[in-house]
Amino acid sequence: MAASKQWVEELARQYQLRWSPQRKRFLGFHRGIIFDIRLVEGDIYILCVSPTVQLEEQVVEGFTNFTNTEAAGVPLGCLSYAQNIDQKNSISPHACVVRLLSIHQEKLGYERFQQLPDAIAKDFHHHGAAESLVCQKCQDQPAEKVLMAGDMHVPICASCEHAVQQQVVSGKLHLHQEVNWKLTLPLIIILTLAGAYLWGTLRQPAVVKILRYATLLIPIVWGALFACWFTWSVAEPIEYCVPYST
Ligand SMILES: [Zn+2]
Repeated sequence: MAASKQWVEELARQYQLRWSPQRKRFLGFHRGIIFDIRLVEGDIYILCVSPTVQLEEQVVEGFTNFTNTEAAGVPLGCLSYAQNIDQKNSISPHACVVRLLSIHQEKLGYERFQQLPDAIAKDFHHHGAAESLVCQKCQDQPAEKVLMAGDMHVPICASCEHAVQQQVVSGKLHLHQEVNWKLTLPLIIILTLAGAYLWGTLRQPAVVKILRYATLLIPIVWGALFACWFTWSVAEPIEYCVPYST
């Protein structure tokens, strides 16, 4: 298990894949193919994705045309289809999974493992995958990174990523992010009680006489402050909060 971790880390360095602490996997792309690599109890899972590849036939035929991958030392039995999690678990025509158990890793060896992205990319190109990735947001600039939106891989350029970051900070985006309710829930209760207390105090006849209608604004101001704080508190990490639209 330790060896496979080292192998994957070295491969990530070589192909400039980034580690995602939230998703516990390496993400990036090579020659236009997105690679999403994770380790599960010593087994290596390589999810390969291309928006333009057409793998319907290969899924049916058991990836028999993946000759480069096979020649690189991967038995075709290690290749399988990938499911679209967002679309009723249908089979994706744009992706495949290479699963390497420890027995396959031993036969493959370190050197050939490091060459795998190249071999897989060649087979993807033979089935329609483009050599380069275009930003999915602006559909214009070359992608520089792969981010995750839900379970989708989104190639994005630097300027679009920057724009998305700005939108997230200003609270305009819906966030696919878990809220830390252990911290947030007590704070919501405390803030609500504090607001009620303040509201009750300011509605005393003596105070109302002085402040008059200004006291009616208190719940609105309080609500706005509360909304700002909440947006700010959940909006910090932005890596995987990119909205996806086709
Ligand atoms: Zn862009």
